[in-house]
Amino acid sequence: MLTTLQLVLAAAPQAAAATAPATDASHAAESGGSSLVIMAYLVAGVLFILSLAGLSKQETASRGTWYGIIGMLLALAAAILSPDVARYGILAAAMVPAAIIGGVLAARVQMTEMPQLVALLHSFVGAAAVLVGFASYLDPHGAGKTAAELIVHDIEVYIGICVGAITFTGSIIACLKLHGTMSGKPLMLPARHLLNLVALIVTVLLGVWFVDAAVDVQAATSVIDATGIILLIAATVLTGILGIHMVMAIGGADMPVVVSMLNSYSGWAAAAAGFMLGNDLLIITGALVGSSGAILSYIMCRGMNRSFVSVILGGFGAAEGTVASGDGEQGEVIEISAEDTVGHMQTARSVVIVPGYGMAVAQAQHALADLTAKLRAAGVTVRFAIHPVAGRLPGHMNVLLAEAGIPYDIVQEMDEINDDLPDTDVVLVIGANDIVNPGAENDPNSPIAGMPVLQVWNSGTVVVMKRGMATGYAGVGNPLFFHENTRMLFGDAKKSVDGMLGAI
Ligand code: NDP
Repeated sequence: MLTTLQLVLAAAPQAAAATAPATDASHAAESGGSSLVIMAYLVAGVLFILSLAGLSKQETASRGTWYGIIGMLLALAAAILSPDVARYGILAAAMVPAAIIGGVLAARVQMTEMPQLVALLHSFVGAAAVLVGFASYLDPHGAGKTAAELIVHDIEVYIGICVGAITFTGSIIACLKLHGTMSGKPLMLPARHLLNLVALIVTVLLGVWFVDAAVDVQAATSVIDATGIILLIAATVLTGILGIHMVMAIGGADMPVVVSMLNSYSGWAAAAAGFMLGNDLLIITGALVGSSGAILSYIMCRGMNRSFVSVILGGFGAAEGTVASGDGEQGEVIEISAEDTVGHMQTARSVVIVPGYGMAVAQAQHALADLTAKLRAAGVTVRFAIHPVAGRLPGHMNVLLAEAGIPYDIVQEMDEINDDLPDTDVVLVIGANDIVNPGAENDPNSPIAGMPVLQVWNSGTVVVMKRGMATGYAGVGNPLFFHENTRMLFGDAKKSVDGMLGAI
């Protein structure tokens, strides 16, 4: 939602009119209009902050969404009706088809495709920051400005374009990886760290050259110069390649951090565009998205026990969906039927359900809500355990469970529930794999070694629901499937839960 606003606010000033000769009356009307716009932006900014606060808890998430929607409508109306904007034809020509395309795509997108849609939207913000940067530089702006003001403006343009280009290309690659069009395997070029470092140093040097050259020319003539444009294009290409390379090098279970990191970058790109355009609301929303994305990246890193730097340096994991091959941890797999699973659960005192990406694929959450209600009605204590990186999007599982009407008070985080698992009779793992992999804890050679996981194997019986023996996103085999207290319920998760409901 904030992404849409960032795009509209960034585009609106470009539709500004060549103003008609101003009269006193029109001046007064204009300054009154500007004050109203500033007020509206302020209220919208407060609503966005309230929205983020509301979204931090499931109980208040719905209210938070409404704050966001109202803030968004207010900000859109203020941006469109602002005295700066008069070329409504251009604005409509850009907004109407975009709104129709966006509406149709959003209505069509499956819940399982949300992560790649979010990544794609981040790429739009990156592209907008690049375009605003170029537009802002091409718009003659040197007249009447001091050298210091010109330097600040050119630094804003340069940073905005560089962050925007990294966000744009990085998000496209993340989208392709999440969609499965591109393999999740990390690309490990020889001397890749050196390549990144050189690209970074060259980008900074180009920036120094750009500011130096641009200020000289602008101060003298108030127009842009060819050297400045060539340097900006070179920086765009270089940082664009850097974005591609950085995300290509990250694989497997580290992708959640990449998604939240690109979210954060898109915020900073928008904030930079806000500085270039002198738009306060764009600066506020950009800072909100940038900082919340950074906090989310930190939470994701903590959830995986990885440092941010080691994630960015990248390089672990294989392609998702590979079948685990014999590497010593194999043993006997014990299958179970839906009927027997129900039997176990009905005689249990306490059941914990661990949802993962497969539940989202199967869209099994509604059937699972029915099963939960029936078990609870029969006196069984049922709780849900959520791993911070379950699914393919931060909060993915919480959203699906809330959509199915599962009560919030029985949904618990990994840290809250792990200690209770030894006292749990049955754990039902539905379409989860990496987040319940004991190898993360007891195999130092595992690619996901050190990542905290849900210790489901400590419970009485574990039933794992999945279609076959394929690996999860990180591409590593899971010894849990061969534990003596593990039973495998093979098949599509929705069909299996329907089978359980039939047998209950
Ligand atoms: P995983 O990807 O580890 O495992 C999902 C499992 O679901 C697969 O092994 C698959 O096995 C099974 N599955 C798929 N479709 C179905 C179906 N229709 N019915 C039943 N089972 C199905 O998911 P987890 O949630 O355990 O872990 C998330 C992983 O994704 C982590 O590695 C995380 O780092 C990564 N990730 C998370 C992001 C986030 O923000 N949360 C973003 C990007 C990546 P089979 O094919 O045999 O059925």
